[in-house]
Amino acid sequence: MVDSARGQARDAAAALPALVPELLPTLRAFAIPMPTRFRGTTLREGALLQGPAGWGEFSPFPDYGPRECARWLACALESAAYGWPAPLRGSVPVNVTVPAVGAEHAHAIVATSGCRTAKVKVAEPGQSDADDIARVEAVRDAIGPGGKVRVDANGGWSLDQAARVLTALAPFELEYAEQPCLTLEEMAALRRLVDVPLAADESIRRAEDPLAVRAAGAADIVVLKAQPLGGVAAALEIARACGLPTVVSSAVETSVGLAAGVALAAALPELPYACGLATMSLLSGDVTVQPLAEADGVLPVRPAVVEPAALGKFEVDPAGWRVRLLAAAEFLGP
Ligand SMILES: [Mg+2]
Repeated sequence: MVDSARGQARDAAAALPALVPELLPTLRAFAIPMPTRFRGTTLREGALLQGPAGWGEFSPFPDYGPRECARWLACALESAAYGWPAPLRGSVPVNVTVPAVGAEHAHAIVATSGCRTAKVKVAEPGQSDADDIARVEAVRDAIGPGGKVRVDANGGWSLDQAARVLTALAPFELEYAEQPCLTLEEMAALRRLVDVPLAADESIRRAEDPLAVRAAGAADIVVLKAQPLGGVAAALEIARACGLPTVVSSAVETSVGLAAGVALAAALPELPYACGLATMSLLSGDVTVQPLAEADGVLPVRPAVVEPAALGKFEVDPAGWRVRLLAAAEFLGP
């Protein structure tokens, strides 16, 4: 990003607090059931704001405090009031996600998906290394030699276990391993032990984290999300400053939140990896009539328009979200 663009981004961030009273009257809240438990719950809750540029989603997780929520709010305000940087591509490749299911089920999930990249969940508590290896083998078989296979341990492996399992998985030619271990120290040590590239996901929650990941030599790739990093322009600047290849992922949002992730992926100068934005299927419904769902392995680059009848099915009282939004607004700013 050139200096003038960075200056513009700072000016936009400085103007965010003034947008709150203007957009607050448009606040709507939703609670959408999820077929599978995620972060200990089966309900995805959040709020929506409408402004001159469109809709924005504010859906920080229930355990997040106001300071952290301010970045999610900045993303919603950016979407509603300003819109996003110009896209450099018309669609974004996405991965199918394979949960920690049995090998046969894993094979079927990939075989029926249009995606050419599969992300396989590993290191599930209560399962063995052999379960992970069998699942990855089945996915490699289903996607074929031309497809890409990555694993995501969500920080669930010790250093020794990560080195052992990743070495055992070498025949399946992994594209990369996402957050094999929890700490930057373990990730950096693992990087010296295995050949497969490592991606940092849970290590990145704040703007300064990607730089810390890079400084620690802890990853080859960073996973960035639009809401937790304060919006599309902010995340683009973080990606530029970090300099590592970037994978854009969702925070399991409605199409409104996903559209911000797609906009981020579409505006990155380089997009060498399929993104983790095909998460619409984790929700049992959406607030639009044209959900941003994967088809033929890609998502289209377009905004999401809230449909009153669609939102109506999941709409809840926004009073609690108004309180949360105003608390977060106290921490807005560049
Ligand atoms: Mg992950």
